Amino acid sequence: MTLKGYKLTEEHKKKIGNARKGQKHSKETIARMKLTHKKIKKSWLSSPRKPMSEETKLKISISNKGEKSWLKGVAGSNHPKWKGGPKKVKPKPGYRKIHKWIAEQLGKATHCEDCGLDKIPVGMRWYFEWANKSKEYKKVLEDWKQLCRKCHRKFDKVKSI
Ligand SMILES: [Zn+2]
Repeated sequence: MTLKGYKLTEEHKKKIGNARKGQKHSKETIARMKLTHKKIKKSWLSSPRKPMSEETKLKISISNKGEKSWLKGVAGSNHPKWKGGPKKVKPKPGYRKIHKWIAEQLGKATHCEDCGLDKIPVGMRWYFEWANKSKEYKKVLEDWKQLCRKCHRKFDKVKSI
């Protein structure tokens, strides 16, 4: 192993170690802390009656706050990117139009041609719908029949298989 290669490996290890620990103080932070300690020591020596000046306390407080926000920033960058919700299935173009048309031609659906139900269940505003037999939404009256919602769902399922 060459000296250069060894150096690089050691550096690499250090980098990995730092990244893993994450919260380890950066060189800058350590330097700043050392400086603060020196200042505290100085203030101790210059004024023994005042162990810590208000100014020093404030400086330490600001330094600690800075540390916190730095960690917060790291955590924020790890947030997964928003990929958006599931795609909404859009009805076929003209679907609404053709339903309006059939209601105009044959009136509102009032009963079910499959199960014979002709009463809207209590608590429901509407229960009968026009169902398209061919699923091609033809403008042909014979291609439509009225069903209750239950039969309509069943009818749609059978047709889609
Ligand atoms: Zn029915």
